[in-house]
Amino acid sequence: MSGAADEPILQTGHLLGIDALSVPEIESLLTLAERYVALNRAPEKKQNVLRGRTLINLFFESSTRTQSSFELAGKRLGADVLNMAVKNSSVSKGETLIDTATTLNAMRPDILVVRHQDSGAAELLSRKVDCCVVNAGDGAHEHPTQALLDALTIKRRRGSFEGLLVAICGDIAHSRVARSNIHLLSKMGARVRLIAPRTLLPADADRLGVEISTDMRKGLEGVDIVMMLRLQLERMGGAFIPSAREYFHFYGLDREKLNCAKPGALVMHPGPMNRGVEIDSDIADDVEVSLIREQVEMGLAIRMAVLDALARGLPREGRNAA
Ligand code: ASP
Repeated sequence: MSGAADEPILQTGHLLGIDALSVPEIESLLTLAERYVALNRAPEKKQNVLRGRTLINLFFESSTRTQSSFELAGKRLGADVLNMAVKNSSVSKGETLIDTATTLNAMRPDILVVRHQDSGAAELLSRKVDCCVVNAGDGAHEHPTQALLDALTIKRRRGSFEGLLVAICGDIAHSRVARSNIHLLSKMGARVRLIAPRTLLPADADRLGVEISTDMRKGLEGVDIVMMLRLQLERMGGAFIPSAREYFHFYGLDREKLNCAKPGALVMHPGPMNRGVEIDSDIADDVEVSLIREQVEMGLAIRMAVLDALARGLPREGRNAA
């Protein structure tokens, strides 16, 4: 298995977004992740890539999949992992993001994984700390490891991205998953079609270089992969949809709408799902079409690959010396 002595992969020493990644960087991460898929399926899963290193998970927004997979990824690679529960930290007493980061920085971590409700938070932190920063979701901006795990899932099923038509459906305006996926899929040669009511399309949708449809049935025609998104109620300042029931009627993925896509089309969702709002349980739980569980498995492998890639750029000695 690869070690810190292997070829560097990430040029910047951080993973802040897909926008800044080159195609070779993405391809190398996907290739490295394949090795971790195999490792995770083996009985002995422990590696030394991060032995002696410290990883801090700093999550200002709740998370199930992302936080637990970064924790497990760090542990499987041999790191000491600290999960900062923001609710129990000084943040709840009014400490700012920068104060918290500076405090954690003084403990000399090697990698800081951060999720924050504000777009740009991870980038800001990366300028204030001495360690590698991984963006685990910043507001409605980017969620790079989600797009990478989605790409790994698609690549394993379809072989390549060239010529694939991927529909990203639902609450695109508030979704960092959509933004990161648009960047990644476009870079890798896939066609992207956004399907959403006008109110849930981002203001700059026309400038994203993607196809746009406001009609779910028509929009799904010819689609190979249907990527559903959660309605991000926590990021909605007002009413963007008349009611959840009406939303499901027009935009919720059920068998009848899925039949409008290409025969054999596959369905994805980053989770957590609102069953009966953006996706019918009948589809979500159908292992013939749903890749949702596979996405979770690929999430762990991708996070291990990202941590491994960052470890290669860590100083062997000196940077953390007092
Ligand atoms: N888990 C993803 C995120 O953090 C998707 C979602 O919450 O809907 O953005």
